[in-house]
Amino acid sequence: MEHGGPSGTTGRGSRRQHLREQRERHGRGAVAALPVEHPREVATAAGRVTVEIWGPPGVAPGRSQAWLPSFACPLARNALEWILRGEVRAVAELLVVPHTCDSLQALGSQVLDLGAGGGLPAVTFYHPRTLDPAARASFLRDELRRYRAALEQRLGRIGEEALAWAVERHREADRLARRLLDEGPREGLSEPERFALLRRREWLWVEDQVAAFRAALERPALPPERFGDRVPILLSGIVAEPPGLLEELDGAGLRVAVDDTAALGRRLPELLPPATGEPLEDLARRYEALGPCSTRTGDLDARIARVVERARRAAVRGALFVIVARCEPELFDLPALRAALREAGVPSATIETDLEAGWPAAMGTRLEAFAESLGARGGAR
Ligand code: SF4
Repeated sequence: MEHGGPSGTTGRGSRRQHLREQRERHGRGAVAALPVEHPREVATAAGRVTVEIWGPPGVAPGRSQAWLPSFACPLARNALEWILRGEVRAVAELLVVPHTCDSLQALGSQVLDLGAGGGLPAVTFYHPRTLDPAARASFLRDELRRYRAALEQRLGRIGEEALAWAVERHREADRLARRLLDEGPREGLSEPERFALLRRREWLWVEDQVAAFRAALERPALPPERFGDRVPILLSGIVAEPPGLLEELDGAGLRVAVDDTAALGRRLPELLPPATGEPLEDLARRYEALGPCSTRTGDLDARIARVVERARRAAVRGALFVIVARCEPELFDLPALRAALREAGVPSATIETDLEAGWPAAMGTRLEAFAESLGARGGAR
């Protein structure tokens, strides 16, 4: 298996083009993964690019409506629609279904038990569902071993050396992505571009992630006096969608100073535990270092404490929750989070997305009202 250096695409090319290049130039197939967190290092060690399916936004509902229960969220609906249309099978040889929520559980059973993938094989990844630390630790380690074996069964043997290499490379990508997220705006990179670059982690080959993040970090960090008069906010929710959200925030005079989305900030460890030399143990410790998340049976009190602490540290003036419609895990945490932020002097607002193709006008009105209430001066673009 070629581990090699960056394959030439450092994030500018499209996802489809990147996957084609990976296949044609490097002989790397792809593994598709549903949200949120899964051990992508194992697929990397098997020489496969991981491509995550966050919807995609803007897929017209069709057959998926008959396959999913009414409580399923639009992300699961769009993903199943994409699967039923054969779009996933066209690029990936395997589908990973993490046990994130009931919506994905319902989707998973359509693919695993009822053949919705049209022959696309699928494997699951279960997160611990208990808060007991010892039970969580042993479940997680067992699950990582089971997951590795499941991938080996479908993709071939995964050697220790390849796994150690993959874990080390993803640790480097984690470190660089965390810096790029936390250090704020950079010279010559707009805020929507910085966030779009970070989200390319969802589909870039790991060496290309490392190269793209390094290149971005070589740009000098902007000193605060050059942030303009944009108002710092905390952004939360599952994922920064629909498309155009970050551009709209920028245009409304808002700047994301803390990202608490499940797709980005919540799955980047703030501090990586030292490497142990045992790749699966390093993976387990990485999981344990992640902040609490509604999609991983996190402790709500711990999540509230962390969100409030980060909001205070970054001196944000408001918080915006972008809620995917019918997203049970986030809706469960939302009232307590908003109340705690209010108590800490941080006003918040919510906008709900059905994973539309573009930016809906009604959402724009809500965002403008929120920006105005924070004293932001829109039209700063
Ligand atoms: S948006 Fe919420 S309900 Fe939908 S797949 Fe993600 S976690 Fe599950």
